[in-house]
Amino acid sequence: MSTVTETFGSLVFGDSTMKEKLPKETYKAMQRTIKNGKHLDLEVANVVANAMKDWAIEKGATHFTHWFQPMTGITAEKHDSFISPTSDGKVIMEFSGKELVRGEPDASSFPSGGLRATFEARGYTAWDPSSYAFIKGKTLCIPTAFCSYGGEALDKKTPLLRSMERINKQALRVLKLFGNTDVTSVKTTVGCEQEYFLIPKELFDRRKDLIYTGRTLFGAKSPKGQELDDHYFGSIKPRVAAFMSDVNEELWKLGVLAKTEHNEVAPAQHELAPIFTTTNIAADHNQLTMEVLQNVAKKHGLVCLLHEKPFAGVNGSGKHNNWSISTDTGVNLLEPGETPYENAQFLLFLSAVIKAVDEYQDLLRISVASAGNDHRLGANEAPPAVVSMFIGDELNGILEAIESESSYDVKEKELLRIGVHILPKFPKDSTDRNRTSPFAFTGNKFEFRMLGSSASVSDANTVLNTAVAEVLKGFADQLEASEDFETDLHNLIRDTIREHKRIIFNGNGYDESWIAEAEKRGLLNLKTTPEALAHFLDKKNIALFTENQIFSETELRSRYEIMLENYCKLINIEALTMVDMARREILPAVSSYVKSLADTVAAVKETSGCEASFELETMKKLNSLNASALAKVKALETAVIGAKSIRDTASLALYYKDTVIPAMNELRIVADESETLTAESYWPLPTYGDMLFGVR
Ligand code: ADP
Ligand code: MG
Repeated sequence: MSTVTETFGSLVFGDSTMKEKLPKETYKAMQRTIKNGKHLDLEVANVVANAMKDWAIEKGATHFTHWFQPMTGITAEKHDSFISPTSDGKVIMEFSGKELVRGEPDASSFPSGGLRATFEARGYTAWDPSSYAFIKGKTLCIPTAFCSYGGEALDKKTPLLRSMERINKQALRVLKLFGNTDVTSVKTTVGCEQEYFLIPKELFDRRKDLIYTGRTLFGAKSPKGQELDDHYFGSIKPRVAAFMSDVNEELWKLGVLAKTEHNEVAPAQHELAPIFTTTNIAADHNQLTMEVLQNVAKKHGLVCLLHEKPFAGVNGSGKHNNWSISTDTGVNLLEPGETPYENAQFLLFLSAVIKAVDEYQDLLRISVASAGNDHRLGANEAPPAVVSMFIGDELNGILEAIESESSYDVKEKELLRIGVHILPKFPKDSTDRNRTSPFAFTGNKFEFRMLGSSASVSDANTVLNTAVAEVLKGFADQLEASEDFETDLHNLIRDTIREHKRIIFNGNGYDESWIAEAEKRGLLNLKTTPEALAHFLDKKNIALFTENQIFSETELRSRYEIMLENYCKLINIEALTMVDMARREILPAVSSYVKSLADTVAAVKETSGCEASFELETMKKLNSLNASALAKVKALETAVIGAKSIRDTASLALYYKDTVIPAMNELRIVADESETLTAESYWPLPTYGDMLFGVR
């Protein structure tokens, strides 16, 4: 058996493989492209493509694909084989530089929000050489960005790469002001903790709701849930351990730095976290991780549920996005420093993030908005829909001292002067353990906790990078023009904290009183996707994206349409699935049971003249529940039909939220009550108990 160190990255055309397989000059040219984004000319691309192909064939690959992330949120691929016919009726295996750097998938069926109607019908994919090619199954996958011929982004990666360029540019300006001239590039880094559920596949296969929507639309609570907290960090069952071991092996081969794994709070819920890496690579790796989790689960007779809320009444699944900014000289810009100057620089970057999160709280909320995530945010679950920041008591004390121009340490009477005084050391632990904050400073990075488990991390990081870049731009403009750097720096940090401290909240984010307090502070509480999206095209948001060249206004409008449409379509599928399950499974099952009860009632009466009280009572109750369920099904059908007459997508989304979802909830209540009264042998669906405690 080979060791982890030998197999790690064995399916990746990474740095060491390139070094080994490419001629020296080609390798150097590739390095320049990867590190500094230098254009790769076709000659070099041809050499790289050929080496890549030979390597891939050695590893058993027969096909290649441009692997990309369309607006559906999952990855897309279209395989082409390497074969090329020769004159003697045979084939050779070929892969050209042109095929490597550019592809033309038929894009007409990907969501474009009307972009293609106004521009080109087709799109093309372009290689992102900073994310290594890898082999999946028998296919060499080339990570790419996906654009229309007019240059409009049709995917989630293009804007992410653009946002990384922006923050690079602005952070470099700021660093220069602090005398850091050796830094040539700044990149954001991300590590995402991925939560998921595992249930037995044979149970999944018997539930249309899971098959069509990824979540249970019916289901009474099981007698036991997560109340004992006995699952969190509990010992991992052998079957799950075997699954995790296979997942790790697959991910390591793909060069994904899978690091930690543990049981989560809800029964059947688990988490996997990698070691952080550059944001675009982290985004690719997270997509791969989600795919590997699902594929490996099937091999173990399990299904991995990535939906944000597969089960009512127990915790949903999120994805914590740990984010920081690092220089190519290895400095983490969100790490408090050792010297006054380093500290001043840290405080400036910190205030930039504070200002960015406050000013663009709506966009951050939107970047995590989805029908699935609405069940977590704004539904009394971690974290709330209000965006706020936790920075810990130590750092808060320092910011307060700066803001109020008072002394931080009462023993020292001196005022805290940025750039002059050394800041006290903040012990990491004191910043680490607020679990309820949507956006928490955890010592040397921020943890954005609002992302849903199935989301692509690209959206959130595009917003975060762009917003911080915009603020840094303003800071750099101001400080570059300054004649007294230290004073102006001090005042800038002080004023930024004064203006934006409302976003800082170090208390319990689950507390009801916080929501009231947040409202008083003027923070937004956008509980659902349609409410959040209503802010997407606000003037300041259009300005942010267009001025930073992340999106044109047309691209923004198309994205807005796609997000709303997606929401409506998902709810529509859920509603139709409920109607189908109710009419064809639940109501008939209850009816059969009622008949059997009625038969018993009649038989007992006839043979003994007695009343079969259990049967009679249950029969009556279930009969009336079934009548009520029928009425609710009809009401839901009417609600669904009502959607057909609404043309405007924003109104349609609100209609689904205000009319269809409540009708779904009403039907569920009745059906779930029937479940609790129907004999197990009659109930057509695996129960919550079966699913949540079924992996043994
Ligand atoms: P938690 O305590 O929140 O459960 P862990 O420490 O297990 O978190 O995971 C935190 C995640 O943050 C890991 O994926 C880790 O690699 C990542 N991380 C650490 N430092 C950075 C950084 N500088 N930038 C981005 N992510 C980071
Ligand atoms: Mg975490």
